[in-house]
Amino acid sequence: MLENKIGMIFGVANKRSIAWACASACAEHGARQAFTYQGDRLKENVEKLAGELTDSLVVPCDVTDQSEVDAAFAAVNDKYGRLDYLIHSIAFAPREALEGEFVTTTRDAFRTALEISAFSLTQVSLAAAPLMKDGGSIVTMSYYGAEKVVQNYNVMGVAKAALEASTRYLAADLGKQNIRVNAISAGPINTLSARGVKNMGSLLGYVGEKSPLKRNVTAAEVGNTALFLVSDLASGITGETIYVDCGYNIMGI
Ligand code: NDP
Repeated sequence: MLENKIGMIFGVANKRSIAWACASACAEHGARQAFTYQGDRLKENVEKLAGELTDSLVVPCDVTDQSEVDAAFAAVNDKYGRLDYLIHSIAFAPREALEGEFVTTTRDAFRTALEISAFSLTQVSLAAAPLMKDGGSIVTMSYYGAEKVVQNYNVMGVAKAALEASTRYLAADLGKQNIRVNAISAGPINTLSARGVKNMGSLLGYVGEKSPLKRNVTAAEVGNTALFLVSDLASGITGETIYVDCGYNIMGI
């Protein structure tokens, strides 16, 4: 499905990362991919994982540093000369902002969360567009806390609301270049980032019980949806937020 396609994956921290599930699904269907990592701490991890795939590239990219973003896209251009899809699977908020009351969010925490978790999508989309010479697909990861209050999710919910709105504005801007932009709203999954949200364990239990499918979603299921969205099968879909949450979001009382 993705033979001769080149992808760029932001957000692999380890094998549990949603980004890795997306990359694995796409690699199984023939894609070659570049991976970015933030800071030397993750370099070895990401290099090891990417090394399992054919003709991959690993480059540093902390999205708070524009020169690293520019260098990452230049490296992709040097190696592959093009880009067909990008998966944006990064988010961050200071730990203390992910517990207690939202009303106590500091200016710094707000700025950091919105910059890394929301603005970065616009930043990487602008850089990706010139490399997407035959059109392309950009996919980001959101969560239900964007639209409903989820205890402890706090400023990250506000960042995800901005991320989903950005998805629509970017889709409107980039559609004329045949670049599609979509968000996946994933159900809770036990990853490194998720563990930063206080009481994640009980959230997983609650959602697993209440969702129509009576279980939590897996990273592999999110990965398969990303594969669909970056493939030509989704050629008519842009600006959407697609739920991959075992149906949790449809439930009322
Ligand atoms: P991971 O911790 O595996 O991935 C998050 C990634 O974001 C890490 O690689 C992290 O690197 C990276 N990141 C953080 N700050 C920066 C930065 N400044 N520049 C570049 N990269 C950075 O967790 P997930 O796979 O769970 O998260 C992926 C995405 O999915 C996030 O957007 C998350 O909000 C979203 N999501 C997760 C859900 C879940 O329940 N797990 C549910 C719905 C959405 P580092 O480790 O160095 O900080």
